[in-house]
Amino acid sequence: MKKIILDENEIPKKWYNIQADLKTPLDPPLNPKTKEPIGPDDLKAIFPMGLIKQEVSQERYISIPNEVREIYRIWRPSPLYRADRLEKALKTPAKIYFKWEGVSPPGSHKPNSSVPQAYYNMKEGVENIATETGAGQWGSALAFSTSIFDIGCRIYMVKCSYDQKPYRRILMENWGANVYSSPTNITNVGKEIIKRDPETSGSLGIAISEAVEDAATHDDTNYALGSVLNHVVLHQTIIGQEVKKQFESIDEYPDIILGCVGGGSNFAGTAFPFVRDKIVNEKPDLKIISVEPFACPTLTEGSYRYDFGDSVGLTPLLKMFTLGHSFVPDAIHAGGLRYHGDSPLLSKLTKEGYMEAVAYYQKEVFEAAELFSRTEGFVVAPEAAHAVKAAIDQALICKKNNEEKIILFANSGHGHFDLSAYDMYHNNKIKDFKHPEKMIKKAIEEIPEI
Ligand SMILES: *Cc1c(COP(=O)(O)O)cnc(C)c1O
Repeated sequence: MKKIILDENEIPKKWYNIQADLKTPLDPPLNPKTKEPIGPDDLKAIFPMGLIKQEVSQERYISIPNEVREIYRIWRPSPLYRADRLEKALKTPAKIYFKWEGVSPPGSHKPNSSVPQAYYNMKEGVENIATETGAGQWGSALAFSTSIFDIGCRIYMVKCSYDQKPYRRILMENWGANVYSSPTNITNVGKEIIKRDPETSGSLGIAISEAVEDAATHDDTNYALGSVLNHVVLHQTIIGQEVKKQFESIDEYPDIILGCVGGGSNFAGTAFPFVRDKIVNEKPDLKIISVEPFACPTLTEGSYRYDFGDSVGLTPLLKMFTLGHSFVPDAIHAGGLRYHGDSPLLSKLTKEGYMEAVAYYQKEVFEAAELFSRTEGFVVAPEAAHAVKAAIDQALICKKNNEEKIILFANSGHGHFDLSAYDMYHNNKIKDFKHPEKMIKKAIEEIPEI
């Protein structure tokens, strides 16, 4: 079968919370000033209670509100594809499958979380949401979702993406959001950073600081994060639960699961329902591999410890893999993978050996994406292209060993707004960056001691 499709009534009714299955609990977030554990009350200034409860919940399954499932029906269940034409091109005995999240209106997995986030804010009477966006994917997902629930949206967009990707900004504005190039002159944090480094290309960390300041200084405004936090990962488990049903319907189960990791939400969401099978020891041999860029090698070269989620130390300290909150990665085209930290849940499961990680250069990633579009048709986002590259490499290993393994990769979104990056690739203008170890070491030295 080319595509494995579920019925609308098979959209999962619950999100899966992996916190219930951890052998030891997550280390708690810490107050950035006192370094003491923070509780739900500390988050009330910027998040609605509905999401705070999910953030700390230990329940294995959490019901999806009907209003949210209604919106999910616009593009869910998303298809699972067999990449048989890619298999043929590679002459591999492996079977390659991908879960395609490019079918949502904004074109990625992100509305799986932005829709419930906007919903819980609307339910609690919040009038505006402030947020940051890297490549513009999260911003467009949130703009789409706030327009559905009729609330305002202010978006701090990382400068290098704002300049490289005007079409994403237009998309956000089409859904009614206000978009600013970050760092801006409208927050204290932004002014400070521009004073220090007028030429800065911005970073997700800086944009987060600006959006948090905006939310904390306006009573009618909350903050929303598109990745990293437990509730975001929770919402994304709709992906992996659908994949499980889809594999069950064809009587198969993957041997290797791959996905790109920026903050970890699409991959955690795809993988966690399968990670559970590893934790309970039903599938001890299943390999689960995160894929990241060499320009921002958080899991492969970072350190596992408490660090701030933003650049200036306004957010709580999270225990995670990090390159240091002051790390500013090169302006690679996979803007969504330029984040110094990673989801605490995904980090812990990586530290404990349930998951592993690999890194790739930009050029080889675009080369893989081009082969993918010439075989499977879809033009994928540069972020998702990292997963394509890793899937091709795994399929080639299977070819060498003559193994008929089943490879699944999370295909997180389309690249229709990234065509200028593809154009640069066609004209041989893509540069490979490997961040100098010295810079990573320096940023790691700036992480506070706990
Ligand atoms: C944002 C984004 C990512 C990276 O974010 P995660 O939280 O790691 O999933 C990956 N792919 C696409 C298409 C994105 O928009």
